[in-house]
Amino acid sequence: MATGYVFHEHLMWHDAGSSADMMPPGRFVEPGKHLDAPGAKRRLNNLIQVSGLSRHLVPIVPEPVSIEDLLRVHTPRHVDDIRMLSERGSGFAGPQAPIGIGSFEIALLSAGTTYAAMRAVLTGRVDNAYALARPPGHHAGPDGAMGNCLFSNIGVSIRRLQHEGLLDRAAVVDWDVHHGNGTETIFYSDPSVLTISVHQDNLYPTGSGALTDNGEGAGAGYNVNIPLPAGSGMGAYESAFDRVIVPALRAFKPDLVIVASGFDASGFDPLGRMMLNSECFRRLAARMVAVAAETSRGRLIMSQEGGYSEGYMPFCGHAVIETLANYRTEVVDPLSDHIDEWVGQDLQPHQIAVIDAAEGLLTRLRKRITSAA
Ligand code: ZN
Repeated sequence: MATGYVFHEHLMWHDAGSSADMMPPGRFVEPGKHLDAPGAKRRLNNLIQVSGLSRHLVPIVPEPVSIEDLLRVHTPRHVDDIRMLSERGSGFAGPQAPIGIGSFEIALLSAGTTYAAMRAVLTGRVDNAYALARPPGHHAGPDGAMGNCLFSNIGVSIRRLQHEGLLDRAAVVDWDVHHGNGTETIFYSDPSVLTISVHQDNLYPTGSGALTDNGEGAGAGYNVNIPLPAGSGMGAYESAFDRVIVPALRAFKPDLVIVASGFDASGFDPLGRMMLNSECFRRLAARMVAVAAETSRGRLIMSQEGGYSEGYMPFCGHAVIETLANYRTEVVDPLSDHIDEWVGQDLQPHQIAVIDAAEGLLTRLRKRITSAA
């Protein structure tokens, strides 16, 4: 089993600027540290080195994607906006989407990170891969940056590989705590890409990620949202994977499984209200490895999205990458047992109701797949 690991120091240099958490400085907002500062992702990369996990990974050096690659997904106006703001050196490219000097070039490299992971898997260089992309991508739509995301790393990579003839059908499983609205929009009417997002109901962006948003036109049925209530724990997530996500992948049989891998559903994340620990992320990753083996000849990549607990997020990422590599280091998550004991980790009735409804969407998906075959 060979697992690719895509990282570049330059990704850590995207400067989200001065903010108080996510609030831009203002008359009553003291300047401070932005939550999307590189701390968490840098510490994940460092933990991978210190634990020795890096010795069991195939290092892959990414290259930036081209403007032409961006334009398969994004409008020229959006691309120009990001480039201009990046040259100017500061500002917001969209709601909650800060940009610093050189962020344009770093965003091209971030998309290239995801692309390199996908390409390495599709060409058989590695079996699966993890891309430590930064800035993230799943909120970026065709014509706008949002929520720390400038370009759609996953969207741009899928479209380029389809253009290159290396990829036909892909499935995106987004386990970031926020709705993968950008990815949803890009592929909303496209039956070649199944998009699934499990997220905290109406957290971000608000008014997005409803069960009823199910794809349109030729893509009708090929978008599945699982909006779990705030406070959901491991029971709800594992049930959503067993009853909805894994069966959807089995039905769709993609050529590549892509996980939009945010760790902001962890119990210590400042931007989510869910209760997962690193061991639960390990179990979810194991499900993805198993279903990819069944449906996609094991072809699986994960691309980093959010995750804002500087101290805790690295343990979640490390557990997931250990699972991809099928290698366990000596790393012990100091908080895992504690989170296990929190009340409400078991599946709750109001969570079952959402998962029941999401499972109901599979009937339509299966019908669409059968009639397309
Ligand atoms: Zn997120």
